[in-house]
Amino acid sequence: MSKQVKAWGATSPEKTEPITITRRAPDDEDVGIDIKYAGICHSDIHTVRSEWREISYPLVVGHEIAGVVSTVGKNVTRFKVGDHVGVGCMVNSCRQCSNCHDGEEQYCSSNLVLTYNSKDPKDGTITQGGYSQYIVVDQAFVLRVPESIPLDKAAPLMCAGITLYSPLNHWNAGPGKTVGIIGFGGLGHMGVKLAKALGSEVTVFSQTNSKKELGFQLGADDYVATSDPDVFSRLSQKFDIIINTVSAEIPLDLYLSCLRRDGTLVQVGAPKDQLRISPHSLYARRIGVNGSMIGGIAETQKMLDLCGEKLIFPEIETIPASYIDEAYERVMKSQVQFRFVIDISTM
Ligand SMILES: [Zn+2]
Ligand SMILES: [Zn+2]
Repeated sequence: MSKQVKAWGATSPEKTEPITITRRAPDDEDVGIDIKYAGICHSDIHTVRSEWREISYPLVVGHEIAGVVSTVGKNVTRFKVGDHVGVGCMVNSCRQCSNCHDGEEQYCSSNLVLTYNSKDPKDGTITQGGYSQYIVVDQAFVLRVPESIPLDKAAPLMCAGITLYSPLNHWNAGPGKTVGIIGFGGLGHMGVKLAKALGSEVTVFSQTNSKKELGFQLGADDYVATSDPDVFSRLSQKFDIIINTVSAEIPLDLYLSCLRRDGTLVQVGAPKDQLRISPHSLYARRIGVNGSMIGGIAETQKMLDLCGEKLIFPEIETIPASYIDEAYERVMKSQVQFRFVIDISTM
């Protein structure tokens, strides 16, 4: 049966408030999940403010979902009632294109269904995200949360975690590799923890030294303030991989000068304007500039298993649902260490 559930929805670009939404009846392949926690991602804020495209209100956002299985369809083999599970940024895809076939569903070329503000092929409605008590998701897009990861801390792994893990995994971060992380926020701090867990040496590039101690505590081998002009010459040609998590324009050529031959810069932050890079920075040492967006389902599961095994958790601040609008303001001012997680029981 379909179900009416409480949610916290954006009713205008400026305001979120309690609303009721309808979740479809689970079909044979679906898992019904009682949501316990939902992380707040920058994308949620861009979306509710219609900064990426116009949306129709009300809309429930949230794609860092952690909860407990409460119902399973009759063909569901991978999950049972009571399992700890997660859902990230996508809830379905075409499953037939070459990207889906390769387990890179996030790059589905035909019909990627996002967790919110997409058309749900199962019932034609607009998908509604995780700031709610319950969600119904096809088993192919549900992730297993290892018992060793507390559910509140599991939530941000579903977007922030995989966003950093996927490029580290794809460009072979590991022992003997040096990794630079630009920006030390919700994404950047996961980059530090995951790069260390994979065995790399990791340096944080931050604007100032204000979070330096914290950077070392969370595992960074080095932490540099980019306001210091000597930093870039000191770190010249040091890195194999640099991941840029910053959503503002920064002087990328300086960072490219810190890459070794065949090194790569991976863009995961989303600045409004075009990236500006000198061709000299690229051909000097066969430098690559790449982008990366979340990760596939199998890869996300691999990350969760690694985090469960090595006890790698995000740093979070848990909030009641009534605090969401204020939390958005603080995220925009980078006043959070490091990820807000909504306690859904406060709904
Ligand atoms: Zn996100
Ligand atoms: Zn596809």
